[in-house]
Amino acid sequence: MSQESQLKRQGIAASGGVCRGRVHLLDKKHLHVPQHRVSKDQLEAELSRFESAIVQTRKELKAMHQSLKEKVGSQHADIFEAHLMVLEDAALLQETHQMVRDNGCNVEHAYWSISEKYARAFEAMEDDYLRERAVDLRDVSQRVLTQLMGQQDDMRLYQLKVPSIVVGHDLTPSMTAMLDRNMVLGFATDVGSQTSHTAILARALQIPAVVGLHNISQQLREDDFVLLDGYNGMVVQNPSDQILFEYGQFIRMHEDQEARLAKVRDLPAITLDDHPVALEANLDQPEDAAAILKQGADGVGLFRSEYLFLNQTQWPDEATQAQAYQSVVETLPRRPVTIRTLDLGADKLSHLVHSGEESNPALGFRAIRISLAREDIFQTQLRAILRASHHGQLRVMFPMVTSLEELEGSLRHLEACKAQLQAEGTPYDDDIQVGVMIETPAAAMIVDELAEKVDFVSIGTNDLIQYAMAVDRTNDLIAGLYQPTHPAIIRLISQVTQRAHAAGTQVGVCGEMAGEPVMVPLLIGLGVDELSVAPPLVPRVKYLIRRLKLEEARDFAAKALKMSTSAEILQATQGLVRRLVPEIMPMNTHDLSTL
Ligand code: PEP
Ligand code: MG
Repeated sequence: MSQESQLKRQGIAASGGVCRGRVHLLDKKHLHVPQHRVSKDQLEAELSRFESAIVQTRKELKAMHQSLKEKVGSQHADIFEAHLMVLEDAALLQETHQMVRDNGCNVEHAYWSISEKYARAFEAMEDDYLRERAVDLRDVSQRVLTQLMGQQDDMRLYQLKVPSIVVGHDLTPSMTAMLDRNMVLGFATDVGSQTSHTAILARALQIPAVVGLHNISQQLREDDFVLLDGYNGMVVQNPSDQILFEYGQFIRMHEDQEARLAKVRDLPAITLDDHPVALEANLDQPEDAAAILKQGADGVGLFRSEYLFLNQTQWPDEATQAQAYQSVVETLPRRPVTIRTLDLGADKLSHLVHSGEESNPALGFRAIRISLAREDIFQTQLRAILRASHHGQLRVMFPMVTSLEELEGSLRHLEACKAQLQAEGTPYDDDIQVGVMIETPAAAMIVDELAEKVDFVSIGTNDLIQYAMAVDRTNDLIAGLYQPTHPAIIRLISQVTQRAHAAGTQVGVCGEMAGEPVMVPLLIGLGVDELSVAPPLVPRVKYLIRRLKLEEARDFAAKALKMSTSAEILQATQGLVRRLVPEIMPMNTHDLSTL
Protein backbone atom coordinates (compact mmCIF):
# COMPACT_ATOMS: atom_id res chain seq x y z
CA MET A 1 0.00 0.00 0.00
CA SER A 2 1.53 3.33 -0.87
CA GLN A 3 2.27 5.90 1.83
CA GLU A 4 0.56 8.66 -0.23
CA SER A 5 -2.84 7.02 -0.18
CA GLN A 6 -2.96 6.69 3.60
CA LEU A 7 -5.83 8.73 5.05
CA LYS A 8 -6.55 9.23 8.73
CA ARG A 9 -9.97 10.05 10.16
CA GLN A 10 -10.64 11.05 13.73
CA GLY A 11 -13.88 10.19 15.50
CA ILE A 12 -14.98 9.26 19.01
CA ALA A 13 -13.35 6.26 20.69
CA ALA A 14 -16.34 4.04 21.54
CA SER A 15 -14.81 0.65 22.26
CA GLY A 16 -11.15 -0.23 22.79
CA GLY A 17 -9.14 -2.50 20.52
CA VAL A 18 -7.31 -2.34 17.22
CA CYS A 19 -8.26 -4.26 14.12
CA ARG A 20 -7.51 -4.15 10.43
CA GLY A 21 -9.39 -5.59 7.52
CA ARG A 22 -11.69 -5.03 4.61
CA VAL A 23 -14.67 -2.72 4.85
CA HIS A 24 -18.20 -4.01 4.68
CA LEU A 25 -20.30 -0.98 3.90
CA LEU A 26 -23.87 -0.68 5.07
CA ASP A 27 -26.37 1.12 2.97
CA LYS A 28 -27.12 4.39 4.66
CA LYS A 29 -30.77 4.62 3.78
CA HIS A 30 -31.80 1.13 4.73
CA LEU A 31 -29.84 0.41 7.80
CA HIS A 32 -32.42 -1.78 9.35
CA VAL A 33 -35.71 -3.45 8.78
CA PRO A 34 -38.22 -0.92 10.07
CA GLN A 35 -40.48 -1.87 12.94
CA HIS A 36 -43.69 -0.09 13.60
CA ARG A 37 -47.22 -0.71 14.65
CA VAL A 38 -50.00 -1.12 12.14
CA SER A 39 -53.49 -0.13 13.20
CA LYS A 40 -56.23 -2.76 13.08
CA ASP A 41 -57.94 -1.22 10.07
CA GLN A 42 -54.68 -1.34 8.09
CA LEU A 43 -53.86 -4.98 8.79
CA GLU A 44 -55.51 -6.34 5.63
CA ALA A 45 -53.68 -3.79 3.46
CA GLU A 46 -50.44 -4.78 5.15
CA LEU A 47 -51.03 -8.44 4.40
CA SER A 48 -51.93 -7.79 0.80
CA ARG A 49 -48.65 -5.90 0.42
CA PHE A 50 -47.04 -9.12 1.57
CA GLU A 51 -49.00 -11.17 -0.98
CA SER A 52 -47.81 -8.87 -3.80
CA ALA A 53 -44.20 -9.15 -2.63
CA ILE A 54 -44.48 -12.96 -2.68
CA VAL A 55 -46.04 -12.91 -6.16
CA GLN A 56 -43.30 -10.61 -7.46
CA THR A 57 -40.55 -12.70 -5.90
CA ARG A 58 -42.06 -15.85 -7.41
CA LYS A 59 -41.98 -14.23 -10.88
CA GLU A 60 -38.40 -13.14 -10.33
CA LEU A 61 -37.25 -16.60 -9.24
CA LYS A 62 -39.03 -18.30 -12.16
CA ALA A 63 -37.45 -15.90 -14.64
CA MET A 64 -34.01 -16.53 -13.16
CA HIS A 65 -34.57 -20.26 -13.22
CA GLN A 66 -35.52 -20.11 -16.89
CA SER A 67 -32.65 -17.88 -17.87
CA LEU A 68 -30.04 -19.97 -16.06
CA LYS A 69 -31.47 -23.19 -17.50
CA GLU A 70 -30.97 -21.78 -20.97
CA LYS A 71 -27.44 -20.67 -20.23
CA VAL A 72 -25.97 -23.55 -18.21
CA GLY A 73 -28.55 -26.33 -18.15
CA SER A 74 -31.17 -27.44 -15.66
CA GLN A 75 -28.73 -29.10 -13.27
CA HIS A 76 -27.30 -25.72 -12.19
CA ALA A 77 -30.63 -23.94 -12.35
CA ASP A 78 -32.24 -26.23 -9.80
CA ILE A 79 -31.15 -23.99 -7.00
CA PHE A 80 -33.97 -21.63 -7.95
CA GLU A 81 -36.46 -24.47 -7.68
CA ALA A 82 -35.28 -24.96 -4.13
CA HIS A 83 -35.68 -21.24 -3.54
CA LEU A 84 -39.21 -21.36 -4.88
CA MET A 85 -40.02 -24.07 -2.36
CA VAL A 86 -38.62 -21.92 0.45
CA LEU A 87 -40.67 -18.99 -0.78
CA GLU A 88 -43.88 -21.04 -0.66
CA ASP A 89 -43.09 -22.63 2.69
CA ALA A 90 -46.40 -22.79 4.52
CA ALA A 91 -45.00 -22.35 8.04
CA LEU A 92 -43.04 -19.25 7.08
CA LEU A 93 -46.02 -17.62 5.38
CA GLN A 94 -48.49 -18.60 8.02
CA GLU A 95 -46.38 -17.46 10.97
CA THR A 96 -45.73 -14.13 9.28
CA HIS A 97 -49.47 -13.61 8.84
CA GLN A 98 -50.06 -14.61 12.41
CA MET A 99 -47.45 -12.24 13.79
CA VAL A 100 -48.80 -9.29 11.82
CA ARG A 101 -52.30 -10.02 13.10
CA ASP A 102 -51.39 -10.84 16.71
CA ASN A 103 -48.83 -8.11 17.27
CA GLY A 104 -50.16 -5.48 14.91
CA CYS A 105 -46.70 -4.95 13.43
CA ASN A 106 -45.50 -4.22 9.92
CA VAL A 107 -44.95 -7.13 7.60
CA GLU A 108 -41.24 -6.48 6.87
CA HIS A 109 -40.47 -6.88 10.52
CA ALA A 110 -42.66 -9.97 10.91
CA TYR A 111 -41.30 -11.73 7.83
CA TRP A 112 -37.70 -10.90 8.67
CA SER A 113 -38.04 -12.02 12.30
CA ILE A 114 -39.66 -15.34 11.40
CA SER A 115 -37.28 -16.15 8.55
CA GLU A 116 -34.27 -15.26 10.73
CA LYS A 117 -35.61 -17.54 13.46
CA TYR A 118 -35.65 -20.44 11.01
CA ALA A 119 -32.32 -19.50 9.43
CA ARG A 120 -30.65 -19.51 12.83
CA ALA A 121 -32.20 -22.86 13.68
CA PHE A 122 -30.81 -24.31 10.42
CA GLU A 123 -27.44 -22.76 11.10
CA ALA A 124 -27.22 -24.49 14.46
CA MET A 125 -27.70 -27.94 12.96
CA GLU A 126 -24.94 -30.52 12.77
CA ASP A 127 -25.82 -31.72 9.33
CA ASP A 128 -23.97 -29.79 6.58
CA TYR A 129 -26.86 -30.09 4.16
CA LEU A 130 -29.36 -28.63 6.62
CA ARG A 131 -26.94 -25.90 7.67
CA GLU A 132 -26.72 -24.77 4.07
CA ARG A 133 -30.49 -24.30 4.02
CA ALA A 134 -29.94 -21.21 6.14
CA VAL A 135 -28.20 -19.61 3.16
CA ASP A 136 -31.12 -20.43 0.84
CA LEU A 137 -33.60 -19.13 3.33
CA ARG A 138 -31.77 -15.83 3.69
CA ASP A 139 -31.38 -15.44 -0.03
CA VAL A 140 -35.10 -15.80 -0.46
CA SER A 141 -35.97 -13.54 2.46
CA GLN A 142 -33.69 -10.84 1.05
CA ARG A 143 -35.59 -10.97 -2.20
CA VAL A 144 -38.95 -10.68 -0.49
CA LEU A 145 -37.72 -7.82 1.67
CA THR A 146 -36.32 -6.07 -1.37
CA GLN A 147 -39.81 -6.21 -2.85
CA LEU A 148 -41.27 -4.80 0.34
CA MET A 149 -38.79 -2.06 1.13
CA GLY A 150 -36.25 -1.69 -1.65
CA GLN A 151 -32.57 -2.46 -1.14
CA GLN A 152 -32.05 -4.03 2.31
CA ASP A 153 -28.33 -4.01 2.63
CA ASP A 154 -28.25 -4.58 6.35
CA MET A 155 -29.38 -8.17 5.92
CA ARG A 156 -25.86 -8.91 4.84
CA LEU A 157 -24.63 -7.58 8.17
CA TYR A 158 -25.91 -10.70 9.88
CA GLN A 159 -24.48 -13.04 7.29
CA LEU A 160 -20.95 -11.86 6.75
CA LYS A 161 -18.86 -14.64 5.29
CA VAL A 162 -15.48 -12.93 5.72
CA PRO A 163 -14.36 -11.17 8.90
CA SER A 164 -14.88 -7.48 8.10
CA ILE A 165 -14.94 -3.99 9.52
CA VAL A 166 -18.51 -2.76 9.31
CA VAL A 167 -18.92 0.86 8.26
CA GLY A 168 -22.26 2.61 8.19
CA HIS A 169 -24.19 5.73 9.01
CA ASP A 170 -25.43 4.25 12.27
CA LEU A 171 -25.99 0.97 14.04
CA THR A 172 -28.94 0.69 16.39
CA PRO A 173 -28.48 -1.12 19.73
CA SER A 174 -30.71 -3.93 18.46
CA MET A 175 -28.52 -4.38 15.36
CA THR A 176 -25.40 -4.30 17.49
CA ALA A 177 -26.82 -6.95 19.82
CA MET A 178 -27.15 -9.28 16.84
CA LEU A 179 -23.66 -8.81 15.42
CA ASP A 180 -21.69 -11.98 14.85
CA ARG A 181 -18.61 -11.43 17.03
CA ASN A 182 -16.57 -13.82 14.88
CA MET A 183 -17.25 -11.94 11.69
CA VAL A 184 -17.36 -8.30 12.77
CA LEU A 185 -13.77 -7.24 13.50
CA GLY A 186 -14.87 -3.75 14.41
CA PHE A 187 -17.23 -1.03 13.31
CA ALA A 188 -17.16 2.65 12.42
CA THR A 189 -20.17 4.92 12.11
CA ASP A 190 -20.96 8.49 11.08
CA VAL A 191 -23.00 9.24 14.18
CA GLY A 192 -23.01 8.11 17.80
CA SER A 193 -21.22 8.90 21.01
CA GLN A 194 -19.46 7.21 23.90
CA THR A 195 -22.52 6.64 26.03
CA SER A 196 -24.97 5.62 23.34
CA HIS A 197 -26.22 2.08 23.93
CA THR A 198 -24.53 1.01 20.72
CA ALA A 199 -21.13 2.04 22.12
CA ILE A 200 -21.90 0.49 25.51
CA LEU A 201 -22.76 -2.81 23.84
CA ALA A 202 -19.66 -2.73 21.67
CA ARG A 203 -17.53 -2.45 24.81
CA ALA A 204 -19.38 -5.35 26.43
CA LEU A 205 -18.95 -7.45 23.29
CA GLN A 206 -15.31 -6.33 23.04
CA ILE A 207 -15.78 -5.23 19.45
CA PRO A 208 -13.45 -2.28 18.67
CA ALA A 209 -15.52 0.69 17.54
CA VAL A 210 -15.15 4.30 16.45
CA VAL A 211 -18.27 6.46 16.19
CA GLY A 212 -19.06 10.09 15.36
CA LEU A 213 -16.94 10.08 12.19
CA HIS A 214 -19.57 12.28 10.43
CA ASN A 215 -19.28 10.99 6.85
CA ILE A 216 -17.11 7.89 6.96
CA SER A 217 -19.89 5.86 5.33
CA GLN A 218 -19.63 8.08 2.27
CA GLN A 219 -15.87 8.24 2.17
CA LEU A 220 -15.11 4.54 2.30
CA ARG A 221 -16.00 1.94 -0.30
CA GLU A 222 -16.78 -1.75 0.02
CA ASP A 223 -13.56 -3.75 0.40
CA ASP A 224 -11.34 -0.75 1.20
CA PHE A 225 -8.54 -1.79 3.53
CA VAL A 226 -8.57 0.04 6.87
CA LEU A 227 -7.04 -0.01 10.29
CA LEU A 228 -9.42 0.86 13.13
CA ASP A 229 -8.12 2.07 16.48
CA GLY A 230 -10.94 1.96 19.01
CA TYR A 231 -8.70 3.23 21.84
CA ASN A 232 -8.04 6.56 20.19
CA GLY A 233 -11.08 6.86 17.93
CA MET A 234 -9.20 6.65 14.68
CA VAL A 235 -9.74 5.01 11.31
CA VAL A 236 -6.83 4.86 8.86
CA GLN A 237 -7.64 4.11 5.26
CA ASN A 238 -4.90 2.29 3.33
CA PRO A 239 -2.52 2.14 6.31
CA SER A 240 1.13 2.10 5.29
CA ASP A 241 3.44 -0.77 6.22
CA GLN A 242 5.11 1.54 8.69
CA ILE A 243 1.89 2.32 10.54
CA LEU A 244 0.92 -1.34 10.59
CA PHE A 245 4.30 -2.10 12.13
CA GLU A 246 3.94 0.63 14.77
CA TYR A 247 0.46 -0.57 15.63
CA GLY A 248 1.83 -4.09 15.98
CA GLN A 249 4.13 -2.77 18.72
CA PHE A 250 1.28 -0.85 20.28
CA ILE A 251 -0.83 -4.00 20.47
CA ARG A 252 2.03 -5.86 22.16
CA MET A 253 2.32 -3.11 24.76
CA HIS A 254 -1.39 -3.38 25.35
CA GLU A 255 -1.11 -7.13 25.81
CA ASP A 256 1.58 -6.55 28.45
CA GLN A 257 -0.83 -4.24 30.26
CA GLU A 258 -3.57 -6.85 30.09
CA ALA A 259 -1.21 -9.45 31.55
CA ARG A 260 -0.48 -7.09 34.47
CA LEU A 261 -4.21 -6.53 35.00
CA ALA A 262 -4.99 -10.23 34.87
CA LYS A 263 -3.00 -10.68 38.07
CA VAL A 264 -5.51 -8.71 40.14
CA ARG A 265 -8.60 -10.26 38.60
CA ASP A 266 -9.34 -12.64 41.44
CA LEU A 267 -8.20 -10.36 44.27
CA PRO A 268 -10.65 -8.24 46.28
CA ALA A 269 -11.43 -4.66 45.23
CA ILE A 270 -10.08 -3.02 48.37
CA THR A 271 -8.14 0.21 48.85
CA LEU A 272 -4.66 0.38 50.40
CA ASP A 273 -6.28 1.51 53.66
CA ASP A 274 -8.65 -1.47 53.68
CA HIS A 275 -11.84 0.13 52.39
CA PRO A 276 -13.79 -2.41 50.33
CA VAL A 277 -15.58 -1.27 47.17
CA ALA A 278 -18.27 -3.50 45.67
CA LEU A 279 -17.04 -3.86 42.10
CA GLU A 280 -19.71 -5.33 39.86
CA ALA A 281 -20.34 -5.62 36.16
CA ASN A 282 -23.06 -4.52 33.78
CA LEU A 283 -24.75 -7.26 31.83
CA ASP A 284 -26.63 -6.78 28.59
CA GLN A 285 -27.29 -10.34 27.48
CA PRO A 286 -27.72 -13.39 29.76
CA GLU A 287 -25.21 -15.43 27.77
CA ASP A 288 -22.43 -13.02 28.83
CA ALA A 289 -22.85 -13.83 32.54
CA ALA A 290 -19.96 -16.31 32.51
CA ALA A 291 -17.63 -13.63 31.12
CA ILE A 292 -18.45 -11.48 34.15
CA LEU A 293 -17.26 -14.21 36.45
CA LYS A 294 -14.02 -14.54 34.51
CA GLN A 295 -13.29 -10.83 34.85
CA GLY A 296 -13.47 -11.08 38.63
CA ALA A 297 -16.58 -9.00 39.30
CA ASP A 298 -18.42 -9.30 42.62
CA GLY A 299 -21.78 -9.62 40.88
CA VAL A 300 -24.04 -7.79 38.46
CA GLY A 301 -24.82 -4.17 39.34
CA LEU A 302 -27.02 -3.66 36.30
CA PHE A 303 -28.69 -6.24 34.09
CA ARG A 304 -30.28 -4.33 31.20
CA SER A 305 -33.31 -6.59 30.94
CA GLU A 306 -34.69 -4.75 27.91
CA TYR A 307 -32.30 -6.63 25.63
CA LEU A 308 -34.49 -9.67 26.23
CA PHE A 309 -37.27 -7.75 24.53
CA LEU A 310 -35.38 -6.31 21.57
CA ASN A 311 -35.29 -8.28 18.31
CA GLN A 312 -38.21 -10.37 19.51
CA THR A 313 -41.12 -11.45 17.42
CA GLN A 314 -43.33 -11.50 20.47
CA TRP A 315 -43.30 -10.48 24.08
CA PRO A 316 -41.23 -12.95 26.16
CA ASP A 317 -43.66 -14.60 28.57
CA GLU A 318 -43.18 -15.01 32.31
CA ALA A 319 -41.56 -18.44 32.07
CA THR A 320 -39.09 -17.31 29.37
CA GLN A 321 -38.08 -14.29 31.40
CA ALA A 322 -37.84 -16.25 34.65
CA GLN A 323 -35.59 -18.76 32.91
CA ALA A 324 -33.30 -15.98 31.60
CA TYR A 325 -32.97 -14.38 35.04
CA GLN A 326 -32.50 -17.73 36.71
CA SER A 327 -29.74 -18.68 34.26
CA VAL A 328 -27.84 -15.52 35.24
CA VAL A 329 -28.10 -16.07 39.03
CA GLU A 330 -27.15 -19.69 38.60
CA THR A 331 -24.09 -18.73 36.57
CA LEU A 332 -23.09 -16.33 39.36
CA PRO A 333 -23.77 -18.24 42.58
CA ARG A 334 -23.58 -16.33 45.86
CA ARG A 335 -23.21 -13.04 44.03
CA PRO A 336 -25.79 -10.28 43.84
CA VAL A 337 -27.48 -9.92 40.47
CA THR A 338 -29.37 -6.68 39.97
CA ILE A 339 -32.14 -6.87 37.39
CA ARG A 340 -33.23 -3.50 36.15
CA THR A 341 -36.82 -3.60 34.99
CA LEU A 342 -37.54 -2.80 31.38
CA ASP A 343 -35.85 0.32 30.03
CA LEU A 344 -37.15 0.38 26.48
CA GLY A 345 -37.53 3.71 24.74
CA ALA A 346 -35.13 6.50 23.67
CA ASP A 347 -32.62 4.66 21.46
CA LYS A 348 -33.96 1.20 22.34
CA LEU A 349 -37.26 0.96 20.53
CA SER A 350 -39.43 -2.08 20.25
CA HIS A 351 -42.47 -2.38 18.04
CA LEU A 352 -43.98 -4.33 20.93
CA VAL A 353 -44.61 -1.09 22.81
CA HIS A 354 -43.77 1.81 20.51
CA SER A 355 -46.03 2.95 17.75
CA GLY A 356 -45.11 5.88 15.57
CA GLU A 357 -42.33 8.34 16.23
CA GLU A 358 -41.95 10.58 19.27
CA SER A 359 -40.33 13.95 18.76
CA ASN A 360 -38.24 13.66 21.93
CA PRO A 361 -37.95 9.95 22.66
CA ALA A 362 -35.37 10.39 25.44
CA LEU A 363 -37.95 12.54 27.24
CA GLY A 364 -40.83 10.35 26.21
CA PHE A 365 -42.41 6.95 26.64
CA ARG A 366 -39.51 5.18 28.26
CA ALA A 367 -38.52 2.83 31.08
CA ILE A 368 -40.67 2.98 34.22
CA ARG A 369 -43.21 5.11 32.35
CA ILE A 370 -43.91 2.17 30.06
CA SER A 371 -44.01 -0.28 32.96
CA LEU A 372 -46.45 1.82 34.95
CA ALA A 373 -48.66 2.35 31.91
CA ARG A 374 -48.68 -1.34 31.02
CA GLU A 375 -49.52 -3.33 34.13
CA ASP A 376 -49.56 -6.57 32.10
CA ILE A 377 -45.96 -6.09 30.98
CA PHE A 378 -44.75 -4.86 34.36
CA GLN A 379 -46.33 -7.56 36.47
CA THR A 380 -45.19 -10.30 34.09
CA GLN A 381 -41.64 -9.08 34.49
CA LEU A 382 -41.85 -8.64 38.26
CA ARG A 383 -43.34 -12.12 38.69
CA ALA A 384 -40.52 -13.55 36.57
CA ILE A 385 -37.89 -11.73 38.64
CA LEU A 386 -39.49 -12.91 41.88
CA ARG A 387 -39.66 -16.50 40.67
CA ALA A 388 -35.97 -16.40 39.76
CA SER A 389 -35.15 -14.78 43.13
CA HIS A 390 -35.75 -18.16 44.74
CA HIS A 391 -32.61 -19.44 42.99
CA GLY A 392 -30.03 -16.88 44.10
CA GLN A 393 -29.28 -13.39 45.29
CA LEU A 394 -31.48 -11.32 42.97
CA ARG A 395 -32.07 -7.62 43.40
CA VAL A 396 -34.56 -5.55 41.44
CA MET A 397 -34.27 -1.88 40.49
CA PHE A 398 -36.44 0.66 38.71
CA PRO A 399 -35.11 2.96 35.95
CA MET A 400 -35.86 6.60 35.04
CA VAL A 401 -37.85 7.37 38.14
CA THR A 402 -38.69 11.06 38.57
CA SER A 403 -41.08 11.09 41.51
CA LEU A 404 -41.98 9.39 44.76
CA GLU A 405 -45.33 8.38 43.26
CA GLU A 406 -43.59 6.45 40.50
CA LEU A 407 -41.46 4.58 43.01
CA GLU A 408 -44.43 3.89 45.28
CA GLY A 409 -46.47 2.71 42.29
CA SER A 410 -43.65 0.35 41.31
CA LEU A 411 -43.37 -0.98 44.85
CA ARG A 412 -47.12 -1.59 44.95
CA HIS A 413 -46.83 -3.72 41.81
CA LEU A 414 -43.98 -5.64 43.40
CA GLU A 415 -46.04 -6.31 46.53
CA ALA A 416 -49.03 -7.35 44.44
CA CYS A 417 -46.86 -9.85 42.56
CA LYS A 418 -45.46 -11.21 45.80
CA ALA A 419 -49.01 -11.70 47.10
CA GLN A 420 -50.02 -13.53 43.90
CA LEU A 421 -47.05 -15.88 44.10
CA GLN A 422 -47.67 -16.46 47.78
CA ALA A 423 -51.29 -17.38 47.09
CA GLU A 424 -50.19 -19.73 44.30
CA GLY A 425 -47.59 -21.35 46.52
CA THR A 426 -44.77 -20.36 44.14
CA PRO A 427 -41.49 -19.81 46.02
CA TYR A 428 -39.69 -16.44 45.88
CA ASP A 429 -37.35 -14.41 48.05
CA ASP A 430 -39.56 -12.26 50.25
CA ASP A 431 -36.54 -10.15 51.28
CA ILE A 432 -35.48 -9.39 47.72
CA GLN A 433 -33.50 -6.14 47.76
CA VAL A 434 -35.10 -3.25 45.93
CA GLY A 435 -33.32 -0.27 44.40
CA VAL A 436 -34.06 2.84 42.44
CA MET A 437 -31.92 4.40 39.74
CA ILE A 438 -31.00 8.03 40.06
CA GLU A 439 -30.95 9.10 36.42
CA THR A 440 -32.89 12.33 36.43
CA PRO A 441 -32.14 15.59 38.24
CA ALA A 442 -35.62 15.28 39.77
CA ALA A 443 -34.72 11.96 41.37
CA ALA A 444 -31.40 13.37 42.57
CA MET A 445 -33.18 16.27 44.28
CA ILE A 446 -35.56 13.98 46.17
CA VAL A 447 -33.15 11.15 46.80
CA ASP A 448 -33.62 11.36 50.58
CA GLU A 449 -37.32 10.50 50.17
CA LEU A 450 -36.67 7.82 47.57
CA ALA A 451 -33.88 6.28 49.61
CA GLU A 452 -36.22 5.82 52.59
CA LYS A 453 -38.27 3.38 50.53
CA VAL A 454 -35.53 1.18 49.08
CA ASP A 455 -32.45 -0.85 50.01
CA PHE A 456 -30.07 0.80 47.55
CA VAL A 457 -29.83 3.56 44.96
CA SER A 458 -27.77 3.34 41.80
CA ILE A 459 -26.73 6.47 39.94
CA GLY A 460 -27.15 6.09 36.19
CA THR A 461 -24.68 8.74 35.18
CA ASN A 462 -25.22 8.19 31.45
CA ASP A 463 -28.71 9.57 31.72
CA LEU A 464 -28.11 11.83 34.70
CA ILE A 465 -25.50 13.74 32.69
CA GLN A 466 -27.75 13.81 29.63
CA TYR A 467 -30.70 15.23 31.55
CA ALA A 468 -28.75 17.56 33.85
CA MET A 469 -26.66 19.05 31.04
CA ALA A 470 -29.42 18.97 28.39
CA VAL A 471 -27.07 17.05 26.08
CA ASP A 472 -28.42 14.18 24.00
CA ARG A 473 -26.11 11.31 24.92
CA THR A 474 -26.28 9.86 21.40
CA ASN A 475 -25.56 13.02 19.43
CA ASP A 476 -22.00 13.26 18.10
CA LEU A 477 -22.44 16.92 17.17
CA ILE A 478 -22.55 17.94 20.82
CA ALA A 479 -20.41 15.14 22.25
CA GLY A 480 -17.97 17.75 23.56
CA LEU A 481 -20.69 19.17 25.82
CA TYR A 482 -21.26 15.82 27.48
CA GLN A 483 -18.97 16.36 30.46
CA PRO A 484 -18.89 13.87 33.34
CA THR A 485 -16.57 16.16 35.30
CA HIS A 486 -18.85 19.20 35.05
CA PRO A 487 -19.10 20.71 38.57
CA ALA A 488 -22.88 20.31 38.41
CA ILE A 489 -22.49 16.56 37.98
CA ILE A 490 -19.87 16.19 40.70
CA ARG A 491 -22.03 18.17 43.11
CA LEU A 492 -25.13 16.15 42.20
CA ILE A 493 -23.30 12.89 42.89
CA SER A 494 -22.01 14.25 46.17
CA GLN A 495 -25.49 15.29 47.29
CA VAL A 496 -26.97 11.96 46.28
CA THR A 497 -24.40 9.96 48.25
CA GLN A 498 -24.69 12.15 51.34
CA ARG A 499 -28.47 12.13 51.44
CA ALA A 500 -28.82 8.45 50.64
CA HIS A 501 -26.26 7.58 53.30
CA ALA A 502 -28.17 9.72 55.79
CA ALA A 503 -31.15 7.48 55.07
CA GLY A 504 -28.95 4.42 55.64
CA THR A 505 -28.99 3.47 51.96
CA GLN A 506 -26.05 2.23 49.89
CA VAL A 507 -25.09 4.10 46.72
CA GLY A 508 -23.78 2.66 43.49
CA VAL A 509 -22.85 4.09 40.11
CA CYS A 510 -23.66 1.95 37.09
CA GLY A 511 -23.20 4.50 34.29
CA GLU A 512 -20.12 4.43 32.06
CA MET A 513 -18.40 6.91 34.36
CA ALA A 514 -17.83 4.09 36.86
CA GLY A 515 -15.67 2.17 34.40
CA GLU A 516 -13.52 5.12 33.43
CA PRO A 517 -10.35 4.77 35.56
CA VAL A 518 -9.86 8.52 35.57
CA MET A 519 -13.20 8.95 37.38
CA VAL A 520 -12.82 6.18 39.93
CA PRO A 521 -10.91 8.02 42.74
CA LEU A 522 -13.35 10.91 42.44
CA LEU A 523 -16.42 8.66 42.74
CA ILE A 524 -15.00 6.75 45.69
CA GLY A 525 -13.98 10.02 47.33
CA LEU A 526 -17.52 11.33 46.87
CA GLY A 527 -18.78 8.37 48.90
CA VAL A 528 -19.91 5.89 46.25
CA ASP A 529 -20.03 2.36 47.75
CA GLU A 530 -20.45 0.30 44.61
CA LEU A 531 -19.25 0.56 41.03
CA SER A 532 -20.77 -1.44 38.20
CA VAL A 533 -18.81 -1.36 34.95
CA ALA A 534 -18.57 -3.01 31.54
CA PRO A 535 -17.11 -6.50 32.13
CA PRO A 536 -13.80 -5.98 30.29
CA LEU A 537 -13.09 -2.92 32.46
CA VAL A 538 -13.38 -4.75 35.79
CA PRO A 539 -9.66 -5.66 36.16
CA ARG A 540 -8.48 -2.14 35.28
CA VAL A 541 -10.81 -0.52 37.82
CA LYS A 542 -9.86 -3.12 40.43
CA TYR A 543 -6.15 -2.52 39.85
CA LEU A 544 -6.66 1.19 40.43
CA ILE A 545 -8.77 0.70 43.58
CA ARG A 546 -6.01 -1.48 45.02
CA ARG A 547 -3.49 1.35 44.52
CA LEU A 548 -5.71 4.02 46.09
CA LYS A 549 -6.16 5.24 49.66
CA LEU A 550 -9.70 6.17 50.72
CA GLU A 551 -8.33 9.17 52.62
CA GLU A 552 -6.56 10.45 49.54
CA ALA A 553 -9.70 9.97 47.41
CA ARG A 554 -11.79 11.88 49.97
CA ASP A 555 -9.33 14.78 50.10
CA PHE A 556 -9.27 14.90 46.35
CA ALA A 557 -13.09 14.87 46.07
CA ALA A 558 -13.33 17.69 48.62
CA LYS A 559 -11.00 19.79 46.46
CA ALA A 560 -12.85 18.89 43.25
CA LEU A 561 -16.14 20.02 44.81
CA LYS A 562 -14.66 23.53 45.08
CA MET A 563 -13.49 23.68 41.46
CA SER A 564 -15.55 25.61 38.96
CA THR A 565 -15.01 24.08 35.52
CA SER A 566 -15.06 20.59 34.07
CA ALA A 567 -11.64 21.10 32.48
CA GLU A 568 -10.13 21.93 35.86
CA ILE A 569 -11.62 18.85 37.52
CA LEU A 570 -10.68 16.61 34.60
CA GLN A 571 -7.11 17.79 34.58
CA ALA A 572 -6.77 17.30 38.32
CA THR A 573 -8.21 13.80 38.30
CA GLN A 574 -6.10 12.78 35.30
CA GLY A 575 -3.03 14.02 37.17
CA LEU A 576 -3.94 11.98 40.25
CA VAL A 577 -4.59 8.76 38.32
CA ARG A 578 -1.43 9.15 36.23
CA ARG A 579 0.54 9.49 39.41
CA LEU A 580 -1.11 6.45 41.02
CA VAL A 581 -1.07 3.99 38.15
CA PRO A 582 0.96 5.23 35.18
CA GLU A 583 1.50 1.62 34.12
CA ILE A 584 -2.16 1.01 33.28
CA MET A 585 -3.17 4.35 31.79
CA PRO A 586 -4.90 3.91 28.43
CA MET A 587 -2.38 4.17 25.62
CA ASN A 588 -2.30 7.02 23.23
CA THR A 589 -1.43 6.37 19.63
CA HIS A 590 -1.99 9.88 18.34
CA ASP A 591 1.68 10.56 18.30
CA LEU A 592 2.75 7.52 16.36
CA SER A 593 5.45 8.84 14.05
CA THR A 594 3.65 8.08 10.83
CA LEU A 595 0.30 9.62 11.62
C1 PEP B 1 -27.34 5.13 32.91
O1 PEP B 1 -28.19 5.87 32.43
O2 PEP B 1 -26.27 5.53 33.40
C2 PEP B 1 -27.54 3.68 32.88
C3 PEP B 1 -26.69 2.87 33.48
O3 PEP B 1 -28.58 3.20 32.14
P1 PEP B 1 -28.53 3.09 30.54
O4 PEP B 1 -27.14 3.36 30.08
O5 PEP B 1 -28.96 1.72 30.16
O6 PEP B 1 -29.50 4.14 30.11
MG1 MG C 1 -30.09 5.07 31.92
